[in-house]
Amino acid sequence: MQDKIVVSDTSLSQAAARVLALTTPSPLIDFKPDWPGAERISMQIKRDDLIHPVISGNKWRKLKYTLDALPGSCRHIISFGGGFSNHLHACGHLCMQLGIRFTALVRGNYAANPTPMLRDLAAWQACIQYVDKPTYARRSDPIWLENLQKQHPEAVIIPEGGSQEHALKGVAELMEEDAAACDHIIVPVGSGATLAGLICAGHNPVSVTGVAVLKGEGYLESLVQSLLPSTGRQNHWRILHDYHQGGYGKRNATLTAFCENTTRQYNLPVEPVYSGKLLFAIKDLLAKHFFPDGTRLRIVHTGGMQGAR
Ligand SMILES: *Cc1c(COP(=O)(O)O)cnc(C)c1O
Repeated sequence: MQDKIVVSDTSLSQAAARVLALTTPSPLIDFKPDWPGAERISMQIKRDDLIHPVISGNKWRKLKYTLDALPGSCRHIISFGGGFSNHLHACGHLCMQLGIRFTALVRGNYAANPTPMLRDLAAWQACIQYVDKPTYARRSDPIWLENLQKQHPEAVIIPEGGSQEHALKGVAELMEEDAAACDHIIVPVGSGATLAGLICAGHNPVSVTGVAVLKGEGYLESLVQSLLPSTGRQNHWRILHDYHQGGYGKRNATLTAFCENTTRQYNLPVEPVYSGKLLFAIKDLLAKHFFPDGTRLRIVHTGGMQGAR
């Protein structure tokens, strides 16, 4: 990877930001939909989807300090995900751009019928290994990981979704980039690391609401809890479980139509896996007066448009 780095880069993340021409800080835009209840509060959208056309916004934030923590000699990264994973997609593109070898351990076997995401990975020269479900289930088992590391002593293994301690610091920066104040921040929840980062973020207390995109009541809360540091200030947080629409990647005609309308009417690209469910939830929450009048709500658009293909 050293050949892509020039002397003026002080860190690998800085080199990556330059090579990839990332848009950071991401734009913060006003959002005034004609939804019932919207007139009672003010909303702004943090457009992390605009950070990069390929790398999902929150995946960049989660990987930033992971990159900086890589040993200088690192020439191989291994990570995990499903066949549509935005995290694998982000890692694959980043590694290709930085000249690092990338191995993707993919849950299930798509060899006969690769997804667009997997076809991108192959085009970027990633090594794709299909893993059966029982094996994949061991992805955070220390013994299994130790064995994997023995097979690839030179590689750095990044957990699924990039969800590790370094991720929280990168996500927290999202709160530092804009002068405008907010009292409440809302974000979709998959592995929970983005939510965890926001719980630890900022100097003034805000409420943090996560919208679960998968069925995970209880499980997601403990996942987030396990990622939070034991010390330091934390924002008040909760996860809403009424908006997963049947589970991860599940969609229905109502959600699909909502995404299409929102994209067209507000010139705001949303997909049904994350941002569509988030905005669908916000529309419903406004109708139910979930947010106190006058709330300054910040909506995080985490990106993920590739997953909609
Ligand atoms: C991965 C992802 C999320 C979920 O983030 P977690 O940190 O895993 O909760 C949300 N939105 C998009 C677009 C993603 O790719």
